[in-house]
Amino acid sequence: MVNLLQSSPDEFVQFLKSNGIKRFYFIHNENECRASHPELQPLCDFFNSDKRDYEQHEGIFFELLEEYDILQGAFVHRTCRGQGAGGTRFWSYDTTEDFLRDGLRLSKGMTHKNALAGLWWGGGKGVIVDNPKIDKRDAGVREKIFQSYGKFITSLNGCYITAEDVGTTPTDIGNIFTKTRFVTCIPPGVGGSGNPSSATAKGVLCGMEAAAEFRFKESLEGKTVVVQGMGHVGIELIRLLFEKKVAKVIGSDIFPESIERAQQQFAGHNLETILSSKNDNSLLATECDIFAPCATGGILCPETIEKLNTKIVCGAANNQLEDATRDDKLLFERKIYYVPDFLVNRMGIVNCSNEQYGYINEDPFSKRHLDKNWDQSVYNMTLKTLKLAEENGTPPGQTAVELATEFSFEQHPIFGHRGQQIIDSLVKNEWHRKGE
Ligand code: NAD
Repeated sequence: MVNLLQSSPDEFVQFLKSNGIKRFYFIHNENECRASHPELQPLCDFFNSDKRDYEQHEGIFFELLEEYDILQGAFVHRTCRGQGAGGTRFWSYDTTEDFLRDGLRLSKGMTHKNALAGLWWGGGKGVIVDNPKIDKRDAGVREKIFQSYGKFITSLNGCYITAEDVGTTPTDIGNIFTKTRFVTCIPPGVGGSGNPSSATAKGVLCGMEAAAEFRFKESLEGKTVVVQGMGHVGIELIRLLFEKKVAKVIGSDIFPESIERAQQQFAGHNLETILSSKNDNSLLATECDIFAPCATGGILCPETIEKLNTKIVCGAANNQLEDATRDDKLLFERKIYYVPDFLVNRMGIVNCSNEQYGYINEDPFSKRHLDKNWDQSVYNMTLKTLKLAEENGTPPGQTAVELATEFSFEQHPIFGHRGQQIIDSLVKNEWHRKGE
């Protein structure tokens, strides 16, 4: 008997093939998770007993792309505010549990992000489980994978709307778009919103300004900021920080080219650069006022939190806390003000999620997220979260999740809880048999 949870993705694919399963789903029904196939009951048992990542996800759908032994997934967490929206991650995982947990956590995170941003979208996330045996650099292979993913998304009738995320490129999204209308972040040449990184950096800056106001009763002027990761968002954030007259930025990256680019771009500014390696966490011990994680997730854990020499953590990277509950609490106990990532990195989804409603130069609908006059702007929600956290004695991450959860149950003013209706109809019409 295969231990499905601990099996490698390849073993899991072989298990599916040997049982003749091409499409499968898990839905939340009558207070428990149910699977499309009895053979997958052990995974239902895992979902039903898990207290960390599973949270009554409305629907989890998978299809096997047999040509490459790749699993294509869509996780729909909660759709009261609208269809589940969030990007698709193309990533390799060690075990089945790893990719299931990633999808569960990320789709829940999108529910929180979209709700706190006041968007009429629910939470969803795509996961394509990479097969290390295929050559991901081959443009023809990628085209087939992402066109196939587009067909899979179409089959879900719009309960999930996909977009770009880690491991996917604008070309991949263009390929998805050839097979489905349920995708955003499509290339500008076909009416999409393009790269959101600059907007994301602006959102993070608003969060930092609110946190500095709360913590220091001051602006960012004269502060020292450490930026981990000088990629699309990090580099733009550094530019904005110098505009705000910070005293110094310490920027790190693992690629010498990123370091050189930053040195050239900010010659004449007080930028110190550090070439790091992937598992080197020494940067976190650097003394600063604000630490901005803009590289990868999971960097804050008991070992690194202990080292931190900052007063505020506020950055773009998704899922900065290795364990959302434990590490939020640890930071709170150390009196380090943690500004939840899903609160400040919303501009990526704000930028793309309403693409079909057209464009306005200097769009007021987007700009209000970055000003101080709208209750749900990044600045105001950050201040509100930090104040509530202090008043209630609860860590900011938990406080933000509580606020987001409350908003996430509000129903879409026109369509109500339509995502759930779509899922119900997929199940009633035996979606899982259509791929056979
Ligand atoms: P990116 O890939 O362009 O940049 C990440 C940079 O971090 C790269 O230059 C990489 O070399 C560097 N890096 C990786 N590991 C590192 C380490 N250990 N130490 C130092 N540097 C390291 O990605 P991005 O678009 O700038 O996004 C940054 C983060 O923000 C990601 O976690 C992403 O998921 C998140 N995010 C981005 C957006 C957006 O609009 N781009 C929106 C929301 C969230």
